[in-house]
Amino acid sequence: MRDTIYALSSGHPPAGVAVIRISGPGVRFGLETVAGSVPAPRSAKLSNMRDSAGQLLDQGLVIYFPEPHSFTGEDVAELQIHGSRASISAVLSALSEISGFRPAEAGEFTRRAFENGRMDLTAVEGLSDLIRAETESQRKQALGQAGGHLRLLYEGWAKRLTYARAMIEAEIDFSDEEDIPGSVADRVWPDMQTLADEIKQHLAGARTGEILRSGFQVALVGAPNVGKSSLLNALAQRDVAIVSDVPGTTRDVIQTRLDIGGHLVLLMDTAGIRASDNPVELEGMRRTLMTAESADLVLELRSLIDRTETTPVDTLASERLVVWTKSDLVDNATLELPGTELAVSSKTGYGLDALLQSIAGRLSSLDQTSDEALPTRERHITLLKDCLKEVQAAVIGVDAPIEIRSELLRVASGALGKITGSVDVEQLLGVIFSEFCVGK
Ligand code: GDP
Repeated sequence: MRDTIYALSSGHPPAGVAVIRISGPGVRFGLETVAGSVPAPRSAKLSNMRDSAGQLLDQGLVIYFPEPHSFTGEDVAELQIHGSRASISAVLSALSEISGFRPAEAGEFTRRAFENGRMDLTAVEGLSDLIRAETESQRKQALGQAGGHLRLLYEGWAKRLTYARAMIEAEIDFSDEEDIPGSVADRVWPDMQTLADEIKQHLAGARTGEILRSGFQVALVGAPNVGKSSLLNALAQRDVAIVSDVPGTTRDVIQTRLDIGGHLVLLMDTAGIRASDNPVELEGMRRTLMTAESADLVLELRSLIDRTETTPVDTLASERLVVWTKSDLVDNATLELPGTELAVSSKTGYGLDALLQSIAGRLSSLDQTSDEALPTRERHITLLKDCLKEVQAAVIGVDAPIEIRSELLRVASGALGKITGSVDVEQLLGVIFSEFCVGK
């Protein structure tokens, strides 16, 4: 018999209400022991919680979800009690005394939901993202994924692969019989070509999916003292980066999370780029170049008071925007010179809105895509590429024996199965569920 697990599922105490979740075969017995009775399914019942000696611990609401129609697929109960540390620990301690009960591990409720077929792996990942969502577009993306939009897509593709293989197998089995008309299997290849195109198109949305989930990366680059840290602080409206007059103090990449137009933006300050033989500074510069290379947008800062200053970042491939800094130190005539459209001052706030709007403009295409089914993780992308490779090999392999082409489709479908978790993924599970907090 499985253990019955319990944990605080709501946030950190103290709070108005705390929710303790229990799942497993001992739920009914546990409710009788702690709350006096088992309420009617899915309806809240005000109950006195008591320890084994009958001492009153708290009063709260009890909800019982009988298996299989519960989050985990097992018997589940939720105790809504007062959210103080003392109330929570008293009730948790009473639960711990019941035989077969133990505290849940991180992600264990969700893991049971997966094992009982209540969720596939993409929904599990979507739920994990939903719990962490900070912005509107992250919320929409995660909610869609938790609701199964990736699962539906991948299961649909897997079904087509299975159908194609069934057609091929049928042809192999009946190939001796004269009256089987022309190649049945030949009819599956046009659809497999379409499938390959659909996977390719889906993969083309991968970077968008990753941006929605993990944020749009904006790197601030420029010579020391050009005003990178100050700009980052001004944009973030809080002190997150070190602002200093000493050149080369920002030795590492400092990252600030911003919500711009409902999208997560990771703003990265980088160590000043300049000639140096200090190893720490050189390491900082190496990281700067790496950050800037992988960024979605590079803000190249140049100081208006020293317009000749150039930054050696010409080799970077990302989209770039030149931002002129310290506009408060120059006169209006200088600001009107051609080429200095985007001038800002971290001191006065001049130009910051225009800069934010310019970044927001680059994000507006995400508005339409935030509830589309897009691959959001490296794991999906890798497996989708594997799947695509096999389907393409099967489609173009016209001269190969039909058994080999069928085998390629089987491998392709296995890759999809690994994304949803319908084929063996044991080694992956630990990684995925460790993302969760205890109580989920
Ligand atoms: P970083 O090395 O590029 O990160 O530059 P900092 O942000 O540390 O700024 C270097 C110096 O320039 C500091 O003394 C800042 O106070 C000053 N500074 C930065 N931005 C502005 C600005 O918009 N106006 C003025 N007047 N000074 C600024």
